[in-house]
Amino acid sequence: MKHISILGSTGSIGTQTLEVIKLFPNHFNVVALSTNSNAALIIEQARTFQPELVHVSSHEAFLEVKSALSDMDIDILHGSEDLSALATHKKADIVMSAIVGFAGLQPTMDAIEAGKDIALANKETLVVAGDIVMQLATEKNVNIIPVDSEHSAIFQSMQGENYDRIRRLILTASGGPFRNTKIKQLNSVTLKDALKHPNWNMGNKITIDSATMMNKGLEVIEAYHLFKIPPFKIDVVIHPQSIIHSMVEFKDSSIKAQMGLPDMRVPIQYALTYPDRLKNTFPELNFEAFNQLTFERPDTEKFPALNIAYEAIRRGGNSPCSINAANEVAVGAFIDGKLKFTQIAAIVEKTMETTDFCVNPRLSELIETDREARTIAHELIAKL
Ligand code: NDP
Ligand code: MG
Repeated sequence: MKHISILGSTGSIGTQTLEVIKLFPNHFNVVALSTNSNAALIIEQARTFQPELVHVSSHEAFLEVKSALSDMDIDILHGSEDLSALATHKKADIVMSAIVGFAGLQPTMDAIEAGKDIALANKETLVVAGDIVMQLATEKNVNIIPVDSEHSAIFQSMQGENYDRIRRLILTASGGPFRNTKIKQLNSVTLKDALKHPNWNMGNKITIDSATMMNKGLEVIEAYHLFKIPPFKIDVVIHPQSIIHSMVEFKDSSIKAQMGLPDMRVPIQYALTYPDRLKNTFPELNFEAFNQLTFERPDTEKFPALNIAYEAIRRGGNSPCSINAANEVAVGAFIDGKLKFTQIAAIVEKTMETTDFCVNPRLSELIETDREARTIAHELIAKL
């Protein structure tokens, strides 16, 4: 029986994690759940899965959840220290890190510090502080098992291999909702257009990141840290069907790919059962229905965010942290109708260029960089 804490159980990854857990009651037990502010859903989840701890970040939602679950033997927590208690709960064998954005970093670090294996969905953790996080994981002998479908594909392709054998990693990208949109029309696309992802149903932030292709840029940085591969050996190819989830080319020219229908429950389940596999009844891939798997080069003129991410990793230091913060602010502003779609990448690039550079930042300096970059991005948006 594996005991699991879920950071961000009310999100897209969080709810799908609970779907997987529900299929295997003899293998998994939920120890702790967390939400930002979705009181109704976490109350329902707590009644179904009966965890020991529930964490609610918003004060108002916390009061609602506390009162609604007063008949149950569950500790209802609030505040950032308590989020750490959830990430480090003594019974947890593995922590699903599925909070979105920079907010996921600290609890994930706390969980690693406490020696918990991590099922990592929150890619921002590695984008912001990959060197520190991976070093801590090595020191604490903790497994970081990727949940992001591309990285899960690479991780699965790497079983039985070692990093010295890799020639390059090939990350696949669907191309998002604007793959066929003319560059001139991108100026006037709406939030509704950007939220229509062709293949995946995900939280708002990552869906917008997929539309700008910043998501793929963040994933290049994530892959660099997870697999210790320099960025010039990480290629991106557009694969609109999202059947091949990513590939590893080895030095003998052999390429291993991991395939399947686009269904996040598959990489989530693998992260929870690794290195084992459990039988499920998810839909099977019908090859005749996908008789054409196609590939294209990404259009980096139309989607400059991808190259901005490569540039951030080339600069190193706190640059990836800066672009992550600026991107979170810019995506938020686009969602609030305060920024055009095409302005997102421009804000991110300008913020990176303006942020004070730091070669080898400590965690406290990255927290400061995050603050500084957010301020810069807000100011740039206000000036538009
Ligand atoms: P969602 O927005 O759907 O869910 C985010 C979760 O985190 C929710 O439970 C949310 O609570 C909680 N949360 C948000 N902000 C905070 C905060 N400041 N403090 C505490 N909790 C917070 O995101 P996704 O599930 O789509 O994504 C989660 C992570 O996984 C992201 O890093 C994303 O990049 C990554 N990922 C997601 C994929 C997907 O298919 N969705 C695929 C690959 C990676 P509330 O419900 O109250 O908002
Ligand atoms: Mg992905």
